[in-house]
Amino acid sequence: MNQPLGQKYETVIGLEVHLQLSTRTKIFCGCANVFGRDPNTQTCPVCLGLPGTLPVLNKMALEYALKIAMALNCQINPLIKFDRKNYYYPDLPKGYQISQYDKPVAYDGHVWMTTVDGQTRKINIKRAHLEEDAGKLIHDDRSNSSLVDYNRTGTPLVEIVSEPDLRSPQEVYDYLQALKLTLEYLHVSDCDMEKGSLRCDANVSIRGAGQKIFGTKTELKNMNSFKAVRTALEFEEKRQREVVSSGGRIIQETRLWSEEKGTTVTMRSKEEAHDYRYFPEPDLVPFDIDDALIEEVRRSIPELPRQKFERFVGEYGLSEYDARIIVADQHIAHFFEACTKLYVDTKKISNWLNGPLLQELNVRKMGFSDIKIKPEDFIAIIRKVDENVLSNLTAKETLKQVLDTGKDVAAVIRDAGLAQVSDSSALEGIVDELIREHQNVVGQIREGKASAIGFLVGQAMRKSQGKANPKMIGEIIQRKLSAKSDA
Ligand code: ADP
Ligand code: ZN
Ligand code: MG
Repeated sequence: MNQPLGQKYETVIGLEVHLQLSTRTKIFCGCANVFGRDPNTQTCPVCLGLPGTLPVLNKMALEYALKIAMALNCQINPLIKFDRKNYYYPDLPKGYQISQYDKPVAYDGHVWMTTVDGQTRKINIKRAHLEEDAGKLIHDDRSNSSLVDYNRTGTPLVEIVSEPDLRSPQEVYDYLQALKLTLEYLHVSDCDMEKGSLRCDANVSIRGAGQKIFGTKTELKNMNSFKAVRTALEFEEKRQREVVSSGGRIIQETRLWSEEKGTTVTMRSKEEAHDYRYFPEPDLVPFDIDDALIEEVRRSIPELPRQKFERFVGEYGLSEYDARIIVADQHIAHFFEACTKLYVDTKKISNWLNGPLLQELNVRKMGFSDIKIKPEDFIAIIRKVDENVLSNLTAKETLKQVLDTGKDVAAVIRDAGLAQVSDSSALEGIVDELIREHQNVVGQIREGKASAIGFLVGQAMRKSQGKANPKMIGEIIQRKLSAKSDA
């Protein structure tokens, strides 16, 4: 029956995230787990599903799954079991996927996230389980045929299923960022959506504001970036609202997101949904997860982003804003912390790091892990500013050249002649020129307009390509014009 909904709707979203684990070998055989090799070169009878072969669980895949479980604050099943999920598709040579049904590695966890407006939200995790990836179909338009590459078959995956706790496409985006960051800190995957190492299906429904029961959901697939997930959900929540507002009914179905068209289209409805006929995988015994293993894995978990964020705010007195930027990349966090061992003013470090250094990286489209600068060099530049050898401007230029050339700071300053000019006769010359060139400003200064001095100092910096000592320039101007201060 069609329940009339109120004018206002609430959106309800739950996500299924698939993560490829970066183990050396595949989950149930010894084939290399590598991306980008020639098709069908990384296969064996086990991952090709040939008769008579037996799977053997990769211990590292299990340890990675446990790491993820712990980082997501999950309960860990003391006994885990694998099940066959049966369906036919050409990229699945066995005709079933080995997955986990009723005894997943982990259940009942949560992730903390920060929304765009700075609020902290807890998103519950329903379960996380291990399974194997399928192969890849390649559709070749020229020959009008489909080809299959089995290199990906048997790649270890962890599927992370959230509770339907998310309430907007933007919140989904923020959750994905938080989840990805935690996973990156664990070093269990390269978390690269473009390579398909991280994939996300989104379940979405709407309900009338204040309504307790959930509405019928649709499942969205085929989004290739976090932005695409957000856009697809924005489209779909609008579509559902329009259907319901005009007296229609949402049908449970899987819909494919089309990036080109900017719409979701029906892939299959509930009636066509698979019955996977799950049953226990007879070739793998259930596994005991004993305390010793759990302890071993727990010891391998590094400080996670949320704890690091809190520590950086508490220990180094960073603003939440600065701490968030620094913690959002573990290489930056590491660099920052190395700098604090060399220099006491942590606020200044974070200003130079989140400002000029990150700007330089943006310009170069480089990641923090690619850069050559060492914490010692970075701090040396900041010290040169403290010592008035560099101005802010020449310090930025020094930073740029250190990044470009990998030379040390002293050599860059010397070779590029960046040191501040504090030689008073040179500075007097500059000021004399300026007085000649800017008679009207000089007049203003004589009348006591102090801000006009700033203008001349700026001109002096310009004339000297940022190398004049601004404090000395100011003093010389004052002396020469014996200006009255209006302070
Ligand atoms: P199914 O049995 O249909 O696969 P699950 O209970 O396993 O459903 O949930 C799959 C995903 O769908 C989970 O991420 C869950 O949070 C989400 N989900 C379940 N019900 C809804 C709903 N009514 N609206 C939005 N998302 C939902
Ligand atoms: Zn294999
Ligand atoms: Mg499900």
